[in-house]
Parts: sequence; C-alpha cells; structure tokens
Amino acid sequence: MRALILTIVAITIAVLIYFVTTDRKPQPAQPATAPETTKVVPTIGLIDDARINNAASEPGNWLAYGRTYEEQRFSPLTQINRENVADLGLAWYRDMGTNRAQEATPIVVDGIMFFTSAWSRVFAMEATTGEIKWTYDPKVPGEVGRRACCDVVNRGVAVYKGRVYVGSLDGRLIALDAATGSLVWEVDTIIDHDRFYTITGAPRAAGGKVFIGNGGAEFGVRGYVTAYDAETGEQVWRFYTVPGDPSLPFEHPEMEMAAETWKGGEWWKIGGGGTVWNSIVYDPDFNQVYLGVGNGSPWTRVIRSPGGGDNLVLSSIVALDADTGSMNWYYQTTPGDNWDYTAVQDMALAEMEVDGTLRKVLLQAPKNGFFYVIDRSDGELLRAHPFATVNWATHVDLETGRPVENPELDYLEKEKWVLPGPLGAHNWQAMSVDVDAGLVYLPVQDNPLIYGMAEEWKQTGLYKRNPGSMNLGIAFGTLVQLFVNNITTQPTPKGYLKAFDPLTGEERWVVEIPHYWNGGVLGTAGGLVFQGDALGILSAYDKETGEALWQFNTYTSMLAPPITFEIDGVQYVSILTGTGGGDLFAGAPLDPVPNPASLTYGNYGRMLVFKLGGTGTLPAPTVVDDTIPEQVLAGVSDEEVARGEILFNTYCVLCHGLVVRSGGSIKDLRRMTEEAHGSFNQIVLEGTLSANGMAAFDDSLAVEDVERIHHYVRARAHEDREMALGNQEGARFTWLQ
Ligand code: CA
Repeated sequence: MRALILTIVAITIAVLIYFVTTDRKPQPAQPATAPETTKVVPTIGLIDDARINNAASEPGNWLAYGRTYEEQRFSPLTQINRENVADLGLAWYRDMGTNRAQEATPIVVDGIMFFTSAWSRVFAMEATTGEIKWTYDPKVPGEVGRRACCDVVNRGVAVYKGRVYVGSLDGRLIALDAATGSLVWEVDTIIDHDRFYTITGAPRAAGGKVFIGNGGAEFGVRGYVTAYDAETGEQVWRFYTVPGDPSLPFEHPEMEMAAETWKGGEWWKIGGGGTVWNSIVYDPDFNQVYLGVGNGSPWTRVIRSPGGGDNLVLSSIVALDADTGSMNWYYQTTPGDNWDYTAVQDMALAEMEVDGTLRKVLLQAPKNGFFYVIDRSDGELLRAHPFATVNWATHVDLETGRPVENPELDYLEKEKWVLPGPLGAHNWQAMSVDVDAGLVYLPVQDNPLIYGMAEEWKQTGLYKRNPGSMNLGIAFGTLVQLFVNNITTQPTPKGYLKAFDPLTGEERWVVEIPHYWNGGVLGTAGGLVFQGDALGILSAYDKETGEALWQFNTYTSMLAPPITFEIDGVQYVSILTGTGGGDLFAGAPLDPVPNPASLTYGNYGRMLVFKLGGTGTLPAPTVVDDTIPEQVLAGVSDEEVARGEILFNTYCVLCHGLVVRSGGSIKDLRRMTEEAHGSFNQIVLEGTLSANGMAAFDDSLAVEDVERIHHYVRARAHEDREMALGNQEGARFTWLQ
C-alpha cells in the first residue's frame, strides 16, 4: 500500500510539474488522451484541474459529474445527430446484478468508464465493450438501507489525479487507485452515528480537495459539507448549513448570523436539516464552491422555528471560498421552508447576456418550481420564472428576492394539496444547458402532496422526534388516509421534458410524459436531447422542436442521466436503467398515472451503451406475475388494522409504498408467500433480511406493533386480490375515516 501511495504521489508531482511548467491557458490541439507525462508511467484517470478547465480540447471524454466544471451536461459531439440518429443501436449492455435504483453519472476518460451502482459499489469498465476492469465494494452494512430516505442509491464518483473518489451510503469518503481499484484511503465523514446520516451524492474534486455532503434531513440530522485533502484525506474545512445547540460556541462565524433567523423551538434536538445531498459545484472563475442546501428538519417551520424567521441557510444556494470554506454569499430560494423544498438540485454555471450585459451566472431549478438565474460574483438574483405548476407562491419578487407565499395554501388548520409536492417540480435528475440556444432542457413534474399538521400537534402543540423514523412534522401516519380520501380533488400528476428559456420563462417546446418520475437529460451539438423515462423508453428528441426522432424500449424505468463520449472516432451514448429513489413512497401509481415499465417488466439495473449501427439486443422482456395470493385473515378488528396502518405509514411506507403497493424496486408485501408471512416477526424485529437492506426495527416496534402492521398488510393484500378478481363487495379502505 505504501509503495502504491508513493507511486501515486510521484505521478501527481509529475503531472503538477507538467502543468506548472506549461502555459495554463487553453491549449490548442491537445490530444484526446492523457498528457505526455503519463506515457512514462502508464496509468489512467489522470484528470486534474487544468485538464477539466481545458475540457473543450477533449470533447470525447466526460471528465466530471456534469462533464466539465460548469456542469452544463451539453456535449459538443456531433457524430450522432438529427440526420442519422435513426441508426442508433445497442453496442453493449451489462447487468449490474441489482434491482435497486441506478442514479449514477459515469466519468469516461482514457477509454474507461467509472461509475457507481446500488450500495455505493464502484465499477471501472472498458467503455467500448463493458469489459470489467475492476470493481470495488465498500461493503456497506445492509441495515444501513433503513437509514436512507430514498433507496440505497449512489450518483457517481469523482476521478481526479489518478484516483477515484466515492461517498459510501454509510458515510465514508473513499479514495481508490483509478488504475487498479485498490483502496488508497478512507475517512468517516459523519459527526454523529446515532443519527441517520447517509451519502448518495457524487463527490466533487478541484483545487487539491474533495468536497462531500450528506443526506438524512427527514430522519433529523444537521447538514454540513466537508472538504478533504485529495492526496491525504485530511480534513481541510467543514461548513455547517444550520446552527447547532445555542448553548455551545458557533463552529464558524456564519452560524452566528444564521442563528438569528431561528426563533423559539429546539431545532438542534430535532435536526434542523439543510443537508447537501446532491449538488456541490466548483467554480474556477471565482475559486468558489456552491452548495445546494436542502430542506428543514422537520419540514414544518411552525415546529422547527415557532417564532418565525427565515431559518438560514435552509433551501439556499451558498457560495464558499474553496480554500477556506468561508461564505462569500448566499441566496435563499425558500425562506422558512415549509414543504421539503430543497435547493440541492443540480447547478450549472454559464456566461449569458442578461439585460445587455454578459454575466457569469449560476442556473438552478430547485424543487420549489422557480428557475433561478443568479450572478455568481455576488449572488444577485437576476431571474426567477416558474417552470412548472406552482401554487404555494404567486411569484418571486425580484426587488426583495423573496417568494410571495399564497396564504390560501397555509395548511396549519386544514390540509391542502400543494404544488409542487416534496418530490419537487424538478428533483436531482439532471438538466442540460444549451448556452448557444439560450435554453435549458429540463425534466419537470407536476406532482402534488396533501400537507396537513398532525392531530397531536393540533391538540397539544407538542412534537416529539422519533429517532427511528421520518420526522416530517406533518401528519405522516395519517397522510395516506388524507391522500386516498382526497384523491378525487388531487391535481393530476404528470411529467414533462421542457425546453425552457431561463431569462424569459418561455417554454420553447414541451413533451408530456404520462408518468411524472422520469430520468435526467443530455443535450448534444448533434441537435439532440436524450432522456430515459418511467415507461422504459429512451428517446432522442430534436432539440429545436421536441420531436422524437429515435426511441428504444429498455423495458425498465430510468432515472439516471444519459451521457455521451467518443473513443477511436466512434461516439457512444450510455445510460443506466432501474428506477426507485425518492419515489419508493408513492409505489404503484394510482389512476390515472400509468404503471412504470419497472412494475410491468421488472426493475433491471443495467448499463446500456449505444452507437450508430449498433445491433445488440436486450433479453426478451417478461411480464411480472402480479397475482396476489389468497390471504389467511386473522379476523381482527378494524381498529387493529387501522392502528397497523398508522404504524406502516410511520415505519414501512417509505420503501414498501403507499397502501402497500410497491413501485417495482422493493418487495411488494401483498405478494409475500405464506412462508414469508410465517417469518414476518423475525424479519421485522430480528433483521433476518438485513443484508438486503431490511434492517431490524426492534428499536422502534414492539411485537404487538409488528402484528398490527402484519394485519394491515394482510388486509390490503386481501382487498386488492378481491378487486383483481372482480369482487367489488366490501368497498376498499373500509377502515378509513
Ligand atoms: Ca428532503
């Protein structure tokens, strides 16, 4: 190991010398392969700051999460284009050996594709063939799966100076040798393992440092981002996003300012939130790192901060000095967040002419439904047009920079359908920025939630954090009753791909997709916009009209963004298939949303790679048997079933789905065998399936609770079986209010 580190140090120094002694300005005709020095000591993945800054000279590679530091996800490649995309075909595919969601963006450099799959596993494959170069399994304990709000996903690696960096679900930042996949170092990034912190986001690397945040706001954590020395793993700085216990000293001066915006309440005990679980973007123009900061914990501000206040820096874009971690500016998208409106969605950097002046801008479409254009030099808000149906606010006041909330949708007294819901008008699924066209190709959804306060809070004003479950502050236990009983008044959920002008708010074209939870987007100079959707279709749209020019049925729903790269004169397009993520909760959709492909055919984690003239085929799809077995009913009272329902909605619904209807990625409990039913208590209390992510809940549930949950699962299975058999007798949800 020591020799390995020394080798890497030597290579790094060699590369540093190369760039220090070379003009740092963009170099013409730089070869598409690694710099000359790497030929002396053959290695791979020698990406560094200068090379990413000069990405325009090697358009065939995908060097960083969003392709370059600007993260525009718009490729200059043109071999695959409007005229010939009809000839696009499968070059190769590889099963990832999992049916859990795939969210990663691969990095492609030196002919190798580096990416992650479920459980933070890392893969290095020959990008032209799929041959495995190496794999690395961080061996995340299965029971950690329970700590993840949104599946055991991972969105990818950073490749930097001969190393591959990954954040593991259990909170480690891991550095691997890019050539061999062997471990160089790992650090524990988590400040408190009693709280449910997880990492699903891709690290970013720049300026000799690796930046990583975490998730877990729903479970009651306090957000922060840490910068580590890329070489040694030593901590360089840490920035907290919300203030801690006011009886303790502030960790850094920004927290003193933030603490003035939290009033009353004991947010530090219940979490605070503000996790940075997705977007962290490095800006070489200002040597700044932008953090996309998440929602409050719990969601409801009246519990978190009953005296009011903006609760800085929740739901904000924060600019930090990359070297010191001190704050240069912030912009808060949703002051006093009350809806899970994270601002963690991907941020892209660009230069755009705004009102006659060329500006260095930051672009973001966060959950709250407004598309922000912000001046990177000082955080000034330039535009905030709505890009989806928004009813929580009427508009953003550009003078004050603040949204104007709609008082009619206050849900303190009475529950309200709010758009966007907690899945956001746009979530982490990538957008693509086409600077020349002045457009952003954006996956959008109109997907509401009915928000209402818990009865206990209404009656007593008290709220108690539940350390083993979601801590939302809304009526989560009875949410499903609210949801189902009010379904006829629900605004219909829908998905869209939009070509959106962030300066004017104009929608140049819109593709409507019947299911809301679709994949990330890639734009190319070939005139194409690629997106995989919930119905299993990977499409190439004409970027000027939105017309579908090519479609490929993968028979599995997609969330991950396509990318493109070119090797030996051949352009490829790749995508990972397999859905889940934040939509596990909704499960099998209710009418009129159609079933996703993964529910109909199964949820196959696969890497698919396409090229012109590709002739590969996928295995023939088979339709999943959705028969629900006959249930042995215990003859318990409706009250017991109803109590089981509240427990299910507190501890189980997040993964197993609304009204026990799984969305295809996680086990559908209605289809359990009698043998599994016989082991129900052991599975839930002893964790006999914890290796799969089904951890023990003996810290939260008593035997009687588990039996009530079991009765509810049986009752739901019985109802749906009877319905499927055409027996409408005994209306559905009879135990509901
Ligand atoms: Ca959240």
